[in-house]
Amino acid sequence: MKVCVIGAGVVGCATAYALCSAGHEVVLVDANAAPGEGASFANGGQLSYSYVEPLASPATLRALPAMLLDKNSPLRWRPTADPAQWMWGLQFLTACNSRQAEQGTHRLLAMAELSRSTLEEWMARDSLDFSFTRNGKLVLCPDAATLRRQRQQIALQAYTGVTQQLMNRDQCLAVEPALANYHGFAGGVWTPGECAADPHLFCQALVAAAQKRGLQCFFDAPAQAFAFRNKQATSLETAKGRIQADAFVLATGANAPALARHLGERLPIYPIKGYSVTLPLKPGGNIPTVNVTDLSQKMVLAPLGGKLRVAAMAEFTGHDLGIAPGTVERITRTVEKIYPGACELVHPNAWAGLRPATPTSVPIIRSSRISNVTLNVGHGALGFTLAAGSASLAAGLVTRGKASAPTR
Ligand SMILES: Cc1cc2nc3c(=O)[nH]c(=O)nc-3n(C[C@H](O)[C@H](O)[C@H](O)COP(=O)(O)OP(=O)(O)OC[C@H]3O[C@@H](n4cnc5c(N)ncnc54)[C@H](O)[C@@H]3O)c2cc1C
Repeated sequence: MKVCVIGAGVVGCATAYALCSAGHEVVLVDANAAPGEGASFANGGQLSYSYVEPLASPATLRALPAMLLDKNSPLRWRPTADPAQWMWGLQFLTACNSRQAEQGTHRLLAMAELSRSTLEEWMARDSLDFSFTRNGKLVLCPDAATLRRQRQQIALQAYTGVTQQLMNRDQCLAVEPALANYHGFAGGVWTPGECAADPHLFCQALVAAAQKRGLQCFFDAPAQAFAFRNKQATSLETAKGRIQADAFVLATGANAPALARHLGERLPIYPIKGYSVTLPLKPGGNIPTVNVTDLSQKMVLAPLGGKLRVAAMAEFTGHDLGIAPGTVERITRTVEKIYPGACELVHPNAWAGLRPATPTSVPIIRSSRISNVTLNVGHGALGFTLAAGSASLAAGLVTRGKASAPTR
């Protein structure tokens, strides 16, 4: 079968790789000049298989008014005239209930587990070089109430069999001595099986491996429209010409609603802007070795090949990728508080990206109303973690016309 994958972020590159490995003839199309230049470029770098709790939950609902009113909050909602923003906001508020949060957690855990095993298979098959490390993750909790909530979450997901250990401050310091001078946490949760890697290198490595199996790349080619015959898509019109194929996969991240409208789909995906900085670690300094999520600062920090990747913030401000003055300084000041003296702060390599978020945090992986176009979109804050599993599900849909959703 000839398959055209639209979008070369982590999700599209992984899908193209899975389809090539299954023996299909694959064309990968992107508006940018190279793979991984969108939200996948410099994200937090964490493969967080056990931290998939949806953003929409009763706890978020309770915290929301204070967060929206605080001008230093990591969450920002700038009202726009776009009805999609308000519609998404309403759907998000509706999803803030325990039933939805629990169901979402179970679905995302199953997808994460599929992703972990799929990625392990891929790494065993091809020597994919993308700074992958299994260095574990420590989630720092500021107080006893947060630790209690984490205990409940650990109990909810205990059936996965993943080791997760609640720790006091001293135990956390034994796992990550570089935190010794930081007093913003009372304890934490240690999950030794969590991983980190470079998402941009991941995209490049997948494309290089797939090219050896015949992948063709069509870059600098924004996709504009589909052509249809007998309720099937027959070709994709791009700025660089038309691509004919037997099947298509839409993996265009935060831009997915635009092309999906041509398929008669209204996708509930809205961009949540976040920022990262990538700071060189000072040789001989107090070097962090494990992945950290600091729940009080709402920040994730991952050591990546001699550097520290730090990601933060969630802004509902449309598709704009600008970095407001003061944002980078706020992030680097917090890093200096957490790991004093560990990083060079002069060139912070600041970046902004758009998480393609659904109101429930669960991605959309299914056939579209046009049955030979598969949707693989809406991975929100977890696209890197879920890319391999999502690719395997989407490739199953393309090949067999159905993919059994992973359930437990
Ligand atoms: C600050 C931040 C930190 C994050 N940290 C993590 C983390 O630690 N772990 C994790 O798992 N996830 C993380 N994420 C989320 C993750 O980055 C996203 O979920 C993921 O990158 C989405 O991948 P994607 O392939 O769907 O989208 P993208 O990477 O955005 O790729 C979509 C591609 O489609 C292309 N495209 C769009 N429209 C068209 C068109 N019309 N024609 C052709 N091409 C088109 C774009 O050019 C782009 O290359 C983070 C995100 C942010 C912003």
